[in-house]
Amino acid sequence: MEADGPLHDGHGRRISDLRVSVTDRCNFRCQYCMPAEGLPWLDRAEILSFEEIARLVALLVRLGIEDVRLTGGEPLVRREFPALVAMLAAVEGIHDLSLTTNGYLLERQADELVEAGIQRVNVSIDSLQRDRFFQLTRRDALPQVLRGLEAIGVHPGIRPVKVNAVAMRDFTEQEVEGFCTLARSTAFQVRFIEFMPLDADRAWTPEAVLNGEELRQLVEAIHPLEELPREPSATARVFRFADGRGEIGFINPVSEPFCADCNRLRLTAEGKLRTCLFSLNETDLRGPLRAGAGDGELEEIIREAVWRKELKHHVNEPGFRQPPRSMSAIGG
Ligand code: SAM
Ligand code: SF4
Repeated sequence: MEADGPLHDGHGRRISDLRVSVTDRCNFRCQYCMPAEGLPWLDRAEILSFEEIARLVALLVRLGIEDVRLTGGEPLVRREFPALVAMLAAVEGIHDLSLTTNGYLLERQADELVEAGIQRVNVSIDSLQRDRFFQLTRRDALPQVLRGLEAIGVHPGIRPVKVNAVAMRDFTEQEVEGFCTLARSTAFQVRFIEFMPLDADRAWTPEAVLNGEELRQLVEAIHPLEELPREPSATARVFRFADGRGEIGFINPVSEPFCADCNRLRLTAEGKLRTCLFSLNETDLRGPLRAGAGDGELEEIIREAVWRKELKHHVNEPGFRQPPRSMSAIGG
């Protein structure tokens, strides 16, 4: 293990991207993530305070993290969330401070978030048809979410604004045309993400994944595409519509895993460090933090955990074990 220098894992990958889950709670119940009745929420005392998050983020940034994405659960349901954004925006060394949200509370919070210093926003929308959106998220909320998207879209400093849709067989096929229209007629960048085995209901099967290549062919049947060069550590394969009107991307963690250049680390709402979405083990930082550990001690724990980062996920292999936590409890 390296005792200093920017964080690297034991497989030689430099770790520069951190996803911070600010809450395990959510106001939606997306079928591919949470059960209809919700999950037992963490007690307030178990969740890292803003000061604790800011301290850990500042330390991780000193160790080489450059990009920080705030997620959850639904980050906008955490009380005073923009205050956390402001605290993190003040941490020197963050190149990119971004947010992933379901958009439901974005109309109300967009201006405040921009003022606080958020730089980029992804809004998760799986259907552009109200009844199907309701079916998938178990909330009749599409108009509200689209208003949130508009509210963030009007800020020219927040670019790109991405719209992410989970791709599920027998569902997303009927969304392709609508998402193409959105991508071609607005500045929003649309990305399809393959459904991963991280759903609390454990309904995932390999057959339920509508893979990126199948989706690309569905798009291509309507609009010819040209592939754009892939940036290092980028998760998406991005294509331009051949007539020059916008682009569309495919994130294919199941059919084309990008583990080989994975640069990510995750911090859960209760302060566990996770080195892979599919980790079966995690490293507690809250305990040492609350017991008064100094930065040196925390650094050692972090370096040790990062060094043991998994080489790859095993979703496509026999014997794959779905992690006990579902996506909302990990921080997607
Ligand atoms: N609540 C926020 C939202 O939905 O954007 C942030 C947290 S959510 C867990 C982060 C992202 O993970 C969302 O884009 C969501 O669609 C995605 N996601 C959740 N469960 C997934 C699954 N089983 N497979 C693929 N993506 C999933
Ligand atoms: Fe909530 Fe996001 Fe999970 Fe949907 S995907 S249930 S919005 S955490």
